[in-house]
Amino acid sequence: MPRNPSPRGATPIAAPEVPLHRRPVVWFATVGALLMVLGLTLSGPEGEGEPPAPTDAEMAATVTPADPPPTPVAVSAAPEPLIPPWKEFRVRNGDNLSLIFNRAGFSDTDLYRVARASDGRSLRRVYPGETVAFQADNDGELIAVRHVQSPLLTTLYTLESGGFVATDQVREPERSARNVSMTIDTSLFLAGTAAGLSDAMIMELAGIFGGVIDFVLDPRQGDTIHVLYEELMLDGQRFDDGPILAASFTNRGETFEAYRYTDLEGDTSYYNEKGVSMRKAFLRAPLDFTRVSSNFNPNRLHPIYKTQRPHRGTDYAAPRGTPVYAAGDGRVIEAGYTRPNGRYVFIQHGEQFETHYLHLHKLKVKKGDRVKQGAVIGTVGSTGAATGPHLHYEFLVNGVHRNPRTVHKILPKARSLPEEELPRYLAAIQQPTRQLASLRNAQQLAAAE
Ligand SMILES: [Zn+2]
Repeated sequence: MPRNPSPRGATPIAAPEVPLHRRPVVWFATVGALLMVLGLTLSGPEGEGEPPAPTDAEMAATVTPADPPPTPVAVSAAPEPLIPPWKEFRVRNGDNLSLIFNRAGFSDTDLYRVARASDGRSLRRVYPGETVAFQADNDGELIAVRHVQSPLLTTLYTLESGGFVATDQVREPERSARNVSMTIDTSLFLAGTAAGLSDAMIMELAGIFGGVIDFVLDPRQGDTIHVLYEELMLDGQRFDDGPILAASFTNRGETFEAYRYTDLEGDTSYYNEKGVSMRKAFLRAPLDFTRVSSNFNPNRLHPIYKTQRPHRGTDYAAPRGTPVYAAGDGRVIEAGYTRPNGRYVFIQHGEQFETHYLHLHKLKVKKGDRVKQGAVIGTVGSTGAATGPHLHYEFLVNGVHRNPRTVHKILPKARSLPEEELPRYLAAIQQPTRQLASLRNAQQLAAAE
């Protein structure tokens, strides 16, 4: 899954999505309602390229009293009189847009004129953490508003021949190459956290290998993972995770590699070193492994049925409430409750395959639903004949129960890159392949010492 560097800090508040009408009266009523909900508040200046926050003395020198006097916390010191200073305000919960215009010394009419110009832009909607800055001419007339929606997106509203015109200023973060090596002690999640990876990055890593590794049952102490990835930087500071470019996972001596690749059709996905898609028809572990505190989950549970008939599935001990995923694309053919199964879901995948999920706490799907691989279909529980919270997972091929742990060996092969595209792919992964190999070598050397 490619991650896009979406703006951070834009927590939507309960702002109603109200269509704005052209008629001013209706519009005002609408804006009025919005203003009650949206919040703005005061803050220090923090626009890029501006001088640092002025001291109180500087403020006293630069603030010119107005009627009513604006009360910004701080005002940018602008020694050059030809460039009017910006007054900046940070959006917080509980304030509103009209108030901040008034605090800045501007009226609802000014707000109306700016918002009208914004047509389709976002001054109508502000979120906590954003900033709005104002610029006035020497007569105190509003000439520009600057709305910083994220470190990557600023919208500037400038007065031009009687009306405000909106322009977006978009910044591109710099990409910085990183790599990390880790050794599993108890779980991938803990190893990743210790290595400094974000939760999202660990989830992504698990997603990449989710078709070949059961992250609950497969990992062993001493398994190693190497990841080449990018960090997105703004002004020399880490801004967000970039994509994972390549990764290798050595599980009990067997090494799996994955490379991010954009094919000739423009689709980006992960492939192994031979160009076979990492995305398989079925997940190896149909639940959120990060909620499982230890990866060493040795089937220690003794389900009640074990004494009555052969155990036909795999048990994943996990806390109640852990999300359970559809192992593959399919259709829900059963979703209900029986005494032995508790709450359960059966999914049909194509003609041949069926997966069963038992003892769920909550069901998130109903009979007839179509589900995609990875969709949450319920949560782990202990309903029915269960000794404790766990997911009982079964895999059926042509109506016959198969061991979910080994069934992947008889499943259809995953999609490969077309033969003619393979040379391009192999050329593209040459460098990351060498890099991963050298990381593995370095780690083996270190382990040998
Ligand atoms: Zn079971």
